[in-house]
Amino acid sequence: MTATPNPSAAESPPLRTDVVIVGAGPCGLFQVFELGLLGIKAHVLDSLKAPGGQCTELYPDKPIYDIPALPVCGAQELVDRLMQQIKPFDPQFHLGEEVLEVAPQPDRRFRVATSAGTVFDAGAIVIAAGVGSFQPRRIGVPGSEAFEGTQIHYRVRSAADYRGQHLLIFGGGDSALDWAIDFAPTAASLTLVHRRAEFRAAPASVAKMRELEAQGRLQFIEGLAESLILEGDRLAGIQVKGADGVLHPVAADHVFAFFGLHPKLGPVAEWGMELEKKALRVDTEKFQTSVPGIFAVGDINTYPGKKKLILSGFHEAALAAFGIQSWLFPEKKQFLQYTTTSPVMQKRLGVTAT
Ligand SMILES: Cc1cc2nc3c(=O)[nH]c(=O)nc-3n(C[C@H](O)[C@H](O)[C@H](O)COP(=O)(O)OP(=O)(O)OC[C@H]3O[C@@H](n4cnc5c(N)ncnc54)[C@H](O)[C@@H]3O)c2cc1C
Repeated sequence: MTATPNPSAAESPPLRTDVVIVGAGPCGLFQVFELGLLGIKAHVLDSLKAPGGQCTELYPDKPIYDIPALPVCGAQELVDRLMQQIKPFDPQFHLGEEVLEVAPQPDRRFRVATSAGTVFDAGAIVIAAGVGSFQPRRIGVPGSEAFEGTQIHYRVRSAADYRGQHLLIFGGGDSALDWAIDFAPTAASLTLVHRRAEFRAAPASVAKMRELEAQGRLQFIEGLAESLILEGDRLAGIQVKGADGVLHPVAADHVFAFFGLHPKLGPVAEWGMELEKKALRVDTEKFQTSVPGIFAVGDINTYPGKKKLILSGFHEAALAAFGIQSWLFPEKKQFLQYTTTSPVMQKRLGVTAT
Protein backbone atom coordinates (compact mmCIF):
# COMPACT_ATOMS: atom_id res chain seq x y z
CA MET A 1 0.00 0.00 0.00
CA THR A 2 2.93 2.30 -0.61
CA ALA A 3 3.80 4.58 -3.50
CA THR A 4 7.29 5.90 -4.12
CA PRO A 5 8.21 8.03 -1.11
CA ASN A 6 10.17 11.25 -1.45
CA PRO A 7 13.63 10.32 -0.15
CA SER A 8 14.47 13.95 0.63
CA ALA A 9 11.50 14.33 3.00
CA ALA A 10 12.44 13.66 6.62
CA GLU A 11 9.77 11.78 8.57
CA SER A 12 8.25 13.50 11.61
CA PRO A 13 6.61 11.70 14.58
CA PRO A 14 3.08 10.45 13.75
CA LEU A 15 0.14 12.78 14.38
CA ARG A 16 -2.65 10.82 16.07
CA THR A 17 -6.14 11.62 14.84
CA ASP A 18 -9.62 10.12 14.52
CA VAL A 19 -9.78 10.48 10.75
CA VAL A 20 -7.54 11.46 7.83
CA ILE A 21 -9.38 12.81 4.80
CA VAL A 22 -7.40 12.51 1.56
CA GLY A 23 -8.57 15.38 -0.67
CA ALA A 24 -9.87 18.87 0.12
CA GLY A 25 -12.38 19.08 -2.74
CA PRO A 26 -16.03 19.90 -1.93
CA CYS A 27 -16.76 16.33 -0.80
CA GLY A 28 -13.69 16.10 1.46
CA LEU A 29 -14.64 19.45 3.01
CA PHE A 30 -18.25 18.41 3.62
CA GLN A 31 -16.96 15.16 5.15
CA VAL A 32 -15.33 17.30 7.87
CA PHE A 33 -18.76 18.77 8.63
CA GLU A 34 -20.61 15.45 8.82
CA LEU A 35 -17.89 13.95 11.05
CA GLY A 36 -17.83 17.09 13.18
CA LEU A 37 -21.56 16.82 13.89
CA LEU A 38 -20.84 13.36 15.33
CA GLY A 39 -17.95 14.71 17.43
CA ILE A 40 -15.23 13.18 15.24
CA LYS A 41 -12.10 15.21 14.40
CA ALA A 42 -10.30 15.15 11.06
CA HIS A 43 -7.08 16.18 9.37
CA VAL A 44 -7.49 17.10 5.68
CA LEU A 45 -4.66 16.53 3.21
CA ASP A 46 -4.33 17.78 -0.35
CA SER A 47 -1.53 17.94 -2.88
CA LEU A 48 -2.82 21.36 -3.96
CA LYS A 49 -1.90 24.52 -2.06
CA ALA A 50 -5.53 25.58 -1.64
CA PRO A 51 -8.75 23.74 -0.72
CA GLY A 52 -11.52 23.28 -3.29
CA GLY A 53 -10.41 20.49 -5.66
CA GLN A 54 -11.88 20.78 -9.17
CA CYS A 55 -14.09 23.75 -8.18
CA THR A 56 -11.09 25.91 -7.30
CA GLU A 57 -8.62 24.47 -9.77
CA LEU A 58 -10.71 24.05 -12.91
CA TYR A 59 -13.71 26.39 -12.81
CA PRO A 60 -13.59 28.86 -9.89
CA ASP A 61 -15.59 31.59 -11.67
CA LYS A 62 -18.27 29.36 -13.18
CA PRO A 63 -21.76 29.29 -11.69
CA ILE A 64 -23.17 26.02 -10.29
CA TYR A 65 -26.96 25.67 -10.44
CA ASP A 66 -27.59 22.29 -8.79
CA ILE A 67 -26.61 22.80 -5.16
CA PRO A 68 -29.81 22.35 -3.11
CA ALA A 69 -31.28 25.63 -1.84
CA LEU A 70 -28.69 27.76 -3.67
CA PRO A 71 -30.26 28.65 -7.04
CA VAL A 72 -26.84 29.80 -8.23
CA CYS A 73 -23.45 29.60 -6.55
CA GLY A 74 -19.98 30.32 -7.95
CA ALA A 75 -17.64 27.32 -7.69
CA GLN A 76 -15.11 29.21 -5.54
CA GLU A 77 -17.99 30.67 -3.54
CA LEU A 78 -19.18 27.13 -2.78
CA VAL A 79 -15.72 26.24 -1.47
CA ASP A 80 -15.58 29.44 0.60
CA ARG A 81 -19.01 28.63 2.07
CA LEU A 82 -17.94 25.06 2.90
CA MET A 83 -14.79 26.38 4.60
CA GLN A 84 -16.98 28.69 6.67
CA GLN A 85 -19.41 25.87 7.50
CA ILE A 86 -16.66 23.54 8.79
CA LYS A 87 -14.88 26.21 10.83
CA PRO A 88 -16.51 25.20 14.16
CA PHE A 89 -14.90 21.76 13.85
CA ASP A 90 -11.39 23.19 13.53
CA PRO A 91 -10.05 20.76 10.91
CA GLN A 92 -6.27 20.66 10.51
CA PHE A 93 -5.24 21.23 6.90
CA HIS A 94 -2.03 19.92 5.34
CA LEU A 95 -1.96 21.50 1.89
CA GLY A 96 0.71 21.03 -0.76
CA GLU A 97 1.28 17.47 0.50
CA GLU A 98 0.51 14.44 -1.64
CA VAL A 99 -0.56 11.35 0.29
CA LEU A 100 1.80 8.59 -0.78
CA GLU A 101 1.06 5.81 1.66
CA VAL A 102 -2.01 4.43 3.43
CA ALA A 103 -1.27 1.23 5.33
CA PRO A 104 -3.57 -0.67 7.74
CA GLN A 105 -1.90 -1.53 11.05
CA PRO A 106 -2.53 -4.62 13.23
CA ASP A 107 -4.44 -2.49 15.81
CA ARG A 108 -7.21 -1.53 13.30
CA ARG A 109 -5.57 1.87 12.81
CA PHE A 110 -3.81 3.29 9.73
CA ARG A 111 -0.44 4.75 8.95
CA VAL A 112 -0.63 7.60 6.44
CA ALA A 113 2.47 9.29 5.01
CA THR A 114 2.79 12.31 2.75
CA SER A 115 5.35 13.66 0.30
CA ALA A 116 6.40 16.23 2.92
CA GLY A 117 7.25 13.50 5.44
CA THR A 118 4.16 14.09 7.61
CA VAL A 119 2.98 10.82 9.16
CA PHE A 120 -0.41 10.13 10.74
CA ASP A 121 -1.72 7.45 13.03
CA ALA A 122 -5.39 7.53 12.04
CA GLY A 123 -8.41 5.61 13.27
CA ALA A 124 -10.12 5.70 9.87
CA ILE A 125 -9.49 7.06 6.39
CA VAL A 126 -11.77 8.83 3.95
CA ILE A 127 -10.54 8.95 0.38
CA ALA A 128 -12.10 12.03 -1.26
CA ALA A 129 -9.48 12.17 -3.99
CA GLY A 130 -11.80 13.10 -6.87
CA VAL A 131 -10.22 12.42 -10.22
CA GLY A 132 -6.81 12.17 -8.55
CA SER A 133 -4.17 14.54 -7.33
CA PHE A 134 -3.46 17.47 -9.60
CA GLN A 135 0.02 17.45 -11.09
CA PRO A 136 1.74 20.11 -13.20
CA ARG A 137 1.89 19.39 -16.93
CA ARG A 138 5.57 18.87 -17.65
CA ILE A 139 7.75 20.66 -20.20
CA GLY A 140 8.23 17.41 -22.13
CA VAL A 141 11.70 18.07 -23.53
CA PRO A 142 14.05 15.05 -23.52
CA GLY A 143 16.33 15.14 -20.46
CA SER A 144 14.30 17.82 -18.62
CA GLU A 145 13.46 15.53 -15.63
CA ALA A 146 17.09 15.75 -14.46
CA PHE A 147 16.70 19.51 -13.86
CA GLU A 148 13.19 19.55 -12.33
CA GLY A 149 13.28 21.22 -8.93
CA THR A 150 16.74 22.75 -9.50
CA GLN A 151 16.64 24.70 -12.77
CA ILE A 152 13.26 23.69 -14.22
CA HIS A 153 10.27 24.67 -12.10
CA TYR A 154 6.50 24.17 -12.20
CA ARG A 155 5.71 26.45 -9.29
CA VAL A 156 7.38 29.46 -7.66
CA ARG A 157 7.53 30.16 -3.97
CA SER A 158 9.04 33.63 -4.17
CA ALA A 159 10.16 35.90 -7.02
CA ALA A 160 13.01 37.08 -4.75
CA ASP A 161 14.71 33.65 -5.13
CA TYR A 162 15.44 34.44 -8.81
CA ARG A 163 16.63 38.05 -8.53
CA GLY A 164 19.44 39.03 -10.96
CA GLN A 165 19.21 35.80 -13.01
CA HIS A 166 18.37 34.90 -16.60
CA LEU A 167 14.81 33.57 -16.63
CA LEU A 168 12.68 31.80 -19.22
CA ILE A 169 8.94 31.25 -18.80
CA PHE A 170 6.69 28.98 -20.87
CA GLY A 171 2.91 29.41 -20.88
CA GLY A 172 0.10 31.78 -21.74
CA GLY A 173 -2.23 31.59 -18.73
CA ASP A 174 -2.48 33.66 -15.56
CA SER A 175 0.44 31.95 -13.77
CA ALA A 176 2.84 32.52 -16.68
CA LEU A 177 1.95 36.19 -17.09
CA ASP A 178 1.66 36.98 -13.38
CA TRP A 179 5.14 35.60 -12.72
CA ALA A 180 6.57 37.32 -15.81
CA ILE A 181 5.25 40.63 -14.44
CA ASP A 182 6.68 39.86 -10.98
CA PHE A 183 10.10 38.78 -12.29
CA ALA A 184 10.55 41.61 -14.81
CA PRO A 185 11.85 44.35 -12.45
CA THR A 186 14.69 42.24 -11.02
CA ALA A 187 15.63 39.63 -13.66
CA ALA A 188 18.94 39.92 -15.56
CA SER A 189 16.92 38.88 -18.61
CA LEU A 190 13.41 37.54 -19.07
CA THR A 191 11.91 35.62 -21.99
CA LEU A 192 8.29 34.53 -22.28
CA VAL A 193 7.44 31.75 -24.72
CA HIS A 194 3.90 30.77 -25.69
CA ARG A 195 2.74 28.64 -28.59
CA ARG A 196 0.45 31.38 -29.89
CA ALA A 197 0.26 35.16 -29.73
CA GLU A 198 -3.15 34.97 -27.95
CA PHE A 199 -3.16 34.51 -24.19
CA ARG A 200 -5.63 32.91 -21.76
CA ALA A 201 -4.48 35.26 -18.97
CA ALA A 202 -6.51 38.24 -17.72
CA PRO A 203 -6.52 41.10 -20.30
CA ALA A 204 -4.91 43.49 -17.77
CA SER A 205 -1.96 41.08 -17.34
CA VAL A 206 -1.58 40.73 -21.11
CA ALA A 207 -1.54 44.54 -21.46
CA LYS A 208 1.11 44.82 -18.72
CA MET A 209 3.22 42.11 -20.37
CA ARG A 210 3.05 43.92 -23.72
CA GLU A 211 4.09 47.14 -21.95
CA LEU A 212 7.14 45.39 -20.45
CA GLU A 213 7.97 43.99 -23.88
CA ALA A 214 7.80 47.51 -25.40
CA GLN A 215 10.12 48.77 -22.63
CA GLY A 216 12.63 46.01 -23.46
CA ARG A 217 12.26 44.38 -20.04
CA LEU A 218 10.87 41.18 -21.53
CA GLN A 219 11.31 39.31 -24.81
CA PHE A 220 8.32 37.40 -26.19
CA ILE A 221 8.72 34.44 -28.57
CA GLU A 222 5.80 32.63 -30.16
CA GLY A 223 6.97 29.03 -30.16
CA LEU A 224 7.61 25.78 -28.29
CA ALA A 225 10.45 24.21 -26.28
CA GLU A 226 12.49 22.03 -28.63
CA SER A 227 15.57 20.83 -26.70
CA LEU A 228 17.86 21.58 -23.76
CA ILE A 229 21.06 23.59 -24.12
CA LEU A 230 23.64 22.04 -21.80
CA GLU A 231 27.00 23.23 -20.52
CA GLY A 232 28.57 20.19 -18.93
CA ASP A 233 26.00 18.91 -16.43
CA ARG A 234 24.37 22.33 -16.07
CA LEU A 235 21.29 23.56 -17.94
CA ALA A 236 22.31 26.69 -19.86
CA GLY A 237 19.05 27.35 -21.69
CA ILE A 238 16.46 26.01 -24.11
CA GLN A 239 16.28 25.87 -27.88
CA VAL A 240 12.90 27.36 -28.72
CA LYS A 241 11.34 26.50 -32.05
CA GLY A 242 9.54 29.61 -33.25
CA ALA A 243 6.15 29.56 -34.95
CA ASP A 244 8.17 30.43 -38.10
CA GLY A 245 10.13 27.15 -37.73
CA VAL A 246 13.37 28.97 -36.78
CA LEU A 247 15.35 27.78 -33.74
CA HIS A 248 16.01 30.46 -31.09
CA PRO A 249 18.64 29.57 -28.46
CA VAL A 250 17.45 31.21 -25.19
CA ALA A 251 20.02 31.35 -22.37
CA ALA A 252 18.50 30.76 -18.93
CA ASP A 253 19.57 30.00 -15.37
CA HIS A 254 16.00 29.01 -14.50
CA VAL A 255 13.15 27.77 -16.66
CA PHE A 256 9.49 27.90 -15.56
CA ALA A 257 6.72 25.94 -17.26
CA PHE A 258 3.15 26.95 -16.44
CA PHE A 259 1.06 24.63 -18.59
CA GLY A 260 -1.65 24.06 -15.98
CA LEU A 261 -2.44 20.97 -13.95
CA HIS A 262 -3.83 17.57 -14.81
CA PRO A 263 -5.26 15.00 -12.41
CA LYS A 264 -3.39 11.75 -11.75
CA LEU A 265 -5.01 8.87 -9.86
CA GLY A 266 -1.46 8.08 -8.73
CA PRO A 267 -0.89 6.63 -5.28
CA VAL A 268 -4.61 5.94 -4.58
CA ALA A 269 -4.42 3.03 -7.03
CA GLU A 270 -1.62 1.45 -4.99
CA TRP A 271 -3.29 1.22 -1.59
CA GLY A 272 -4.81 -2.22 -2.12
CA MET A 273 -8.49 -1.26 -2.46
CA GLU A 274 -10.69 -2.81 -5.11
CA LEU A 275 -10.84 -0.60 -8.20
CA GLU A 276 -13.34 -0.48 -11.04
CA LYS A 277 -12.48 1.73 -14.01
CA LYS A 278 -10.05 3.86 -11.98
CA ALA A 279 -12.62 4.38 -9.17
CA LEU A 280 -12.86 2.81 -5.71
CA ARG A 281 -15.68 0.34 -5.34
CA VAL A 282 -17.80 1.11 -2.25
CA ASP A 283 -20.99 -0.16 -0.62
CA THR A 284 -23.94 2.24 -0.51
CA GLU A 285 -24.69 1.82 3.18
CA LYS A 286 -21.44 3.23 4.58
CA PHE A 287 -19.42 4.08 1.45
CA GLN A 288 -16.69 1.79 2.72
CA THR A 289 -14.09 0.44 0.28
CA SER A 290 -12.98 -3.19 0.10
CA VAL A 291 -10.58 -2.41 2.99
CA PRO A 292 -12.48 -2.07 6.30
CA GLY A 293 -11.90 1.33 7.90
CA ILE A 294 -11.16 3.03 4.56
CA PHE A 295 -14.14 4.93 3.15
CA ALA A 296 -14.45 6.79 -0.16
CA VAL A 297 -16.74 9.69 -1.12
CA GLY A 298 -17.17 11.94 -4.14
CA ASP A 299 -15.85 11.44 -7.66
CA ILE A 300 -13.30 8.81 -6.60
CA ASN A 301 -15.89 6.13 -5.72
CA THR A 302 -18.17 3.93 -7.77
CA TYR A 303 -21.31 1.88 -7.10
CA PRO A 304 -24.35 0.96 -9.18
CA GLY A 305 -25.95 4.19 -10.39
CA LYS A 306 -23.09 6.46 -9.32
CA LYS A 307 -23.29 10.01 -10.66
CA LYS A 308 -20.28 12.28 -10.27
CA LEU A 309 -22.14 15.25 -8.80
CA ILE A 310 -21.30 17.37 -5.79
CA LEU A 311 -24.68 16.72 -4.17
CA SER A 312 -24.16 12.94 -4.49
CA GLY A 313 -20.81 13.35 -2.71
CA PHE A 314 -22.51 15.31 0.09
CA HIS A 315 -25.01 12.49 0.67
CA GLU A 316 -22.17 9.94 0.62
CA ALA A 317 -20.25 11.98 3.21
CA ALA A 318 -23.26 11.95 5.58
CA LEU A 319 -23.61 8.17 5.46
CA ALA A 320 -19.83 7.60 5.54
CA ALA A 321 -19.69 9.63 8.79
CA PHE A 322 -22.09 7.16 10.45
CA GLY A 323 -20.06 4.26 9.03
CA ILE A 324 -16.88 5.80 10.45
CA GLN A 325 -18.55 6.35 13.84
CA SER A 326 -19.40 2.66 14.09
CA TRP A 327 -15.88 1.67 12.89
CA LEU A 328 -14.24 3.90 15.53
CA PHE A 329 -16.73 3.27 18.33
CA PRO A 330 -18.39 -0.11 17.60
CA GLU A 331 -20.02 -0.23 21.05
CA LYS A 332 -21.72 3.18 20.65
CA LYS A 333 -25.45 3.12 19.96
CA GLN A 334 -26.26 5.20 16.89
CA PHE A 335 -29.26 7.46 16.60
CA LEU A 336 -30.18 10.28 14.27
CA GLN A 337 -30.21 13.81 15.64
CA TYR A 338 -31.39 16.98 13.94
CA THR A 339 -29.22 20.09 14.01
CA THR A 340 -32.40 22.12 14.61
CA THR A 341 -33.12 20.40 17.90
CA SER A 342 -30.00 18.62 19.16
CA PRO A 343 -28.26 20.53 21.99
CA VAL A 344 -25.17 18.30 21.54
CA MET A 345 -24.84 19.15 17.85
CA GLN A 346 -25.53 22.83 18.51
CA LYS A 347 -22.77 22.83 21.12
CA ARG A 348 -20.39 21.27 18.60
CA LEU A 349 -21.44 23.89 16.04
CA GLY A 350 -20.92 26.67 18.58
CA VAL A 351 -24.48 27.95 18.15
CA THR A 352 -27.33 28.38 20.56
CA ALA A 353 -30.86 27.57 19.52
CA THR A 354 -33.34 30.42 19.64
C1 LIG B 1 -15.96 22.36 -15.61
C2 LIG B 1 -16.69 21.54 -14.57
C3 LIG B 1 -17.96 21.92 -14.18
C4 LIG B 1 -18.66 21.17 -13.21
N1 LIG B 1 -19.91 21.57 -12.86
C5 LIG B 1 -20.59 20.87 -11.91
C6 LIG B 1 -21.91 21.23 -11.51
O1 LIG B 1 -22.49 22.19 -12.06
N2 LIG B 1 -22.53 20.50 -10.55
C7 LIG B 1 -21.95 19.43 -9.95
O2 LIG B 1 -22.54 18.81 -9.07
N3 LIG B 1 -20.69 19.05 -10.31
C8 LIG B 1 -20.00 19.73 -11.27
N4 LIG B 1 -18.75 19.32 -11.65
C9 LIG B 1 -18.18 18.13 -11.01
C10 LIG B 1 -17.66 18.45 -9.60
O3 LIG B 1 -16.69 19.49 -9.67
C11 LIG B 1 -17.07 17.21 -8.98
O4 LIG B 1 -18.10 16.24 -8.87
C12 LIG B 1 -16.51 17.53 -7.59
O5 LIG B 1 -15.45 18.45 -7.66
C13 LIG B 1 -16.03 16.26 -6.91
O6 LIG B 1 -15.56 16.64 -5.67
P1 LIG B 1 -14.51 15.71 -4.88
O7 LIG B 1 -14.33 16.38 -3.55
O8 LIG B 1 -14.96 14.31 -4.93
O9 LIG B 1 -13.16 15.75 -5.74
P2 LIG B 1 -12.24 16.90 -6.35
O10 LIG B 1 -12.97 18.17 -6.47
O11 LIG B 1 -11.66 16.32 -7.59
O12 LIG B 1 -11.10 17.07 -5.27
C14 LIG B 1 -10.22 16.01 -5.00
C15 LIG B 1 -8.97 16.54 -4.32
O13 LIG B 1 -8.18 15.43 -3.90
C16 LIG B 1 -6.82 15.76 -4.05
N5 LIG B 1 -6.03 14.51 -4.11
C17 LIG B 1 -6.21 13.43 -4.91
N6 LIG B 1 -5.29 12.47 -4.66
C18 LIG B 1 -4.51 12.96 -3.65
C19 LIG B 1 -3.38 12.45 -2.95
N7 LIG B 1 -2.87 11.23 -3.19
N8 LIG B 1 -2.83 13.23 -1.99
C20 LIG B 1 -3.32 14.47 -1.71
N9 LIG B 1 -4.40 15.01 -2.36
C21 LIG B 1 -4.98 14.25 -3.31
C22 LIG B 1 -6.80 16.55 -5.37
O14 LIG B 1 -5.64 17.37 -5.45
C23 LIG B 1 -8.10 17.36 -5.26
O15 LIG B 1 -7.89 18.64 -4.72
C24 LIG B 1 -18.05 20.04 -12.62
C25 LIG B 1 -16.75 19.66 -13.00
C26 LIG B 1 -16.06 20.40 -13.96
C27 LIG B 1 -14.67 19.98 -14.36
